[in-house]
Amino acid sequence: MNGEVFKKKRIWLFDLDNTIYSSNTKIFDQIDKRMKLFISKKLSVSVDEAFVLQKKFYHKYGTTLYGLMKHHEFDPDEFLDFVHDVNLSKLKKNLELFDKIRSLPGEKVIYTNGEKNYAKRVLESLGIFNLFQSIWDIKKSEFIPKPQMAPLKNLLKENKFDSSICVYFEDIKKNLKPAHQLGITTIHITNEESNKKDSYVDFRFKTIISALDMINKNL
Ligand SMILES: [Mg+2]
Repeated sequence: MNGEVFKKKRIWLFDLDNTIYSSNTKIFDQIDKRMKLFISKKLSVSVDEAFVLQKKFYHKYGTTLYGLMKHHEFDPDEFLDFVHDVNLSKLKKNLELFDKIRSLPGEKVIYTNGEKNYAKRVLESLGIFNLFQSIWDIKKSEFIPKPQMAPLKNLLKENKFDSSICVYFEDIKKNLKPAHQLGITTIHITNEESNKKDSYVDFRFKTIISALDMINKNL
């Protein structure tokens, strides 16, 4: 697949954490720690035991929250408020990112396993909130997380998006699989050095900026 493909694209789906901003900011590490803390408090288990549970659910279901709701009847609002209460001072206004997203023709949407108000805070910190027409968060997905197919299908259906004109940027590779199956062009944002590229990954870039540079050149 070459860059020409972007000429006809009109819908741009962006994952949030570690995609729209760099994982070097360690923002998601704060969320990760708060999940562990929350589970430990709520279930009265050690932090180590909480960590085991957190990762088990994350790998099994796509989010820790899904497992906690299914097996421990956690209140999702309480969980989401607590884990997203993080310090975003590492995120700075990014004019370069703003310009490069703005120049994409059509609609820009955030598609995240996180929560909408948190996503809004992140986007505002980066100075790019106004560029996005909507945020499709875990509540819009009825708590069914990526990489499951259902929430993405609903996103496309409810917005009447034609998958053939969609592009999806994401740092977690397996989340790109359902998108590719639906005919969306997939972009993996990763520092991974491997030569092997999976069939469901159409493009791979180290940063969101380098991905946007290549796309903008081809519009
Ligand atoms: Mg991510």
